[in-house]
Amino acid sequence: MDWLGLHFITELPVNGQVILNCMHDPFLVLLAYLVACAGSFATLDMAERVAHAENLSSQRLWRWVGAGCLAGGIWAMHFIGMLAFQVPVDVHFQLPVTLLSLLIALLTSWLVMYTLSRPSLSFWQCLKASVWIGMGIATMHYVGMGAMQSQAKVYYQPVLFGLSILIAIGASLAALLLASHLRNGTGMFHQLFKYSASLVIGAGIISMHFTGMAAFNLLLPGGTVLPQPGEHNHLQLGVTVAVMTLLIIGSCISAALADKKLQKKDHDLQRVNSLLSQLDQARVSLQQVAHYDALTSLINRRGFNQIFAEKLIEKTHEGGMLAVLFLDIDHFKRINDSLGHDAGDELLKVLASHIKASVRSHEDVVARFGGDEFCILIDLHDRDEARQMAQRIMLKMKDPIELAGRRMVMTTSIGISLFPEDGKTCEELLKNADLALYQSKGSGRNGLNFFSANLKARATLELQLEEELRHALREDTGLMLYYQPIYDLKTGQASKLEALIRWQHPVHGFLAPDRFIALAESNGLITELDKWVLRKACQDLGELSRQGCDELKIAVNCSPLSLVREELAGEIEQALRSAAVAPRRLELEVTENALMGNITETLVLLQQIRALGVSLSIDDFGTGYSSLAYLKRLPLNTLKIDRSFIIDIPKSAQDMEIVQAIIVMAHTLHLDVVTEGVETFEQYQFLERHGCDFVQGYLLSRPVPLNDLRPVLDEINQRKHAYTVTPLSLVHGTTALM
Ligand code: C2E
Ligand code: CA
Ligand code: CA
Repeated sequence: MDWLGLHFITELPVNGQVILNCMHDPFLVLLAYLVACAGSFATLDMAERVAHAENLSSQRLWRWVGAGCLAGGIWAMHFIGMLAFQVPVDVHFQLPVTLLSLLIALLTSWLVMYTLSRPSLSFWQCLKASVWIGMGIATMHYVGMGAMQSQAKVYYQPVLFGLSILIAIGASLAALLLASHLRNGTGMFHQLFKYSASLVIGAGIISMHFTGMAAFNLLLPGGTVLPQPGEHNHLQLGVTVAVMTLLIIGSCISAALADKKLQKKDHDLQRVNSLLSQLDQARVSLQQVAHYDALTSLINRRGFNQIFAEKLIEKTHEGGMLAVLFLDIDHFKRINDSLGHDAGDELLKVLASHIKASVRSHEDVVARFGGDEFCILIDLHDRDEARQMAQRIMLKMKDPIELAGRRMVMTTSIGISLFPEDGKTCEELLKNADLALYQSKGSGRNGLNFFSANLKARATLELQLEEELRHALREDTGLMLYYQPIYDLKTGQASKLEALIRWQHPVHGFLAPDRFIALAESNGLITELDKWVLRKACQDLGELSRQGCDELKIAVNCSPLSLVREELAGEIEQALRSAAVAPRRLELEVTENALMGNITETLVLLQQIRALGVSLSIDDFGTGYSSLAYLKRLPLNTLKIDRSFIIDIPKSAQDMEIVQAIIVMAHTLHLDVVTEGVETFEQYQFLERHGCDFVQGYLLSRPVPLNDLRPVLDEINQRKHAYTVTPLSLVHGTTALM
């Protein structure tokens, strides 16, 4: 290897040459080790920075900083190691060669950092790279040694020379493996591990250097007089180089630390930002949920109120009109009760789309307030626009809807209030639209009403009426039962009576149930009212017995709201017992829809009532949505065909067919058939012809008080089948009592 300037000796010099005895300054050796460790630590730190760099330019920057630190560390270690080398001859260093060794150190270190920049490193890749790096370090070392000039000749021991290269490769391999392992990780243990790794790598580097130095021999020709070595301030130079190197490495490490902190802060900031945006999204979707109705995708009451308030402010300042349309689907409860809530929901969706299709899509606000209540807010110029829109909606609502295998037609009631004339605030306008709606429902539904001042007066009146009804029930004053005979076509006798409530009001006079039943139902008074009727009817049954009519039965109406109370059976039993009346003389009339509501629970209650011996009758049959399958399961005795099917007989052939079919169906289910609202003799004859079991109606008698009943019953029973077209009730002059 002479061409490289490397001379090897394998045996002791022969021609009288002298091997110089060389020493190392231990302090400088320690300093060199320290520098090597610092360089290693910096390299590990920079490798970590490179791995976490967020862009290419910062990756490149940290790679160069790392290369600089490592090169500085290795080279300074080497240089200080050389300074620690004490020889009994004068030694000089050639600057260009020294700088060349520095350049080699830099290139080698760059290779280290480049290798560590790879996202993943296999062992083989590490091994391959460490051969190059090790060779690079060794080259740097031996080139550096080559810079040494003295009168002695340099020889190397080949074994130690080879070993130094192997150590360089081994140290490189260890450094690469440790650095790639330590690229990711945080915490105290990670940091401790990094310190220990730096000590190991530093040891590797310094062992390579000193193995190289052990291979190094200086030979002088025999007899050469050893010159007195000059005054060298190697210690001072070594310390200076070490301090400078450590300062540079230290500042690089500080820069890396600052960058790491900055990056962490940046990440924290990003995390905070993403959290904030997530929070924002959550808030938006919460607002969506809070302001929208999930079923129909319309806005809900809350969303409506918000828009309404904004619009009101706008209109108050700029002038203009607004209309609030309150909608309520007529008899929607029947659908829910008879077809179930899923069908009800389906229907609401269709109805919502009908409403949306009837409004001016952009300007008008459509909301669902819950249940079957909808509200629309429109900008308008005159009240007629509101009327036209309401009519458009009512018309669209009548489009037939296919639901649960049935085709049905729905209608709606609408109440309208106008801004500014009917109110200035949201609450006032909504309340007044609601009052107008109440009016529409009260006047037969499927209609529209504008709010008016006397509506308000009427609402106040309703409130007062409610209070008075409560008082009437509590004090048992003013309420009374009227009885309408039910005529048995087979026996020709009035065998049953329907108890119908009346109210003799101190101010409003004689009130029919239509005037107060709905009121009682809407505020929970109905159960009290039904209980009162039950008690009174049982007492009247006792009274009838005393008058010799102990075969007469009384049918009592039961509100659907009473039918959901478990106590009902017990109350009936109690009423019968305290009046000492046989249960078979009592019949309970329940409407079709009340029965279809919660069929399983109702069934239990009905069975309990039947078990008492009380009969059950299904009232207003044909107006609801009962299914035959359910009817079959219910413990019923009687079916009452609704008056609406009789009214047009004999004019309506269709109604006649329906009534016939109902009679046949009821008989198939072993139910007696009562037809109510029979007013003409033709109707009577028709029903008799088609096997109807009982008739009830003005033809026989209007409802009469108990005291007037006797002559009415006698009259009916005497006549048997010999009715004329003149209704009996008229004969007895009871018409006015309706
Ligand atoms: P409903 O159970 O269908 O009672 C039959 C209604 O039809 C009664 O009206 C009766 O007077 C009337 N009506 C009977 N025959 C004829 C007829 O030939 N022509 C005409 N146009 N009408 C006839 P009312 O007494 O006004 O009762 C109305 C509704 O009030 C009843 O309908 C029932 O649903 C309810 N109701 C009456 N009394 C009570 C009660 O004590 N408790 C409860 N919960 N509801 C009651
Ligand atoms: Ca009835
Ligand atoms: Ca009825």
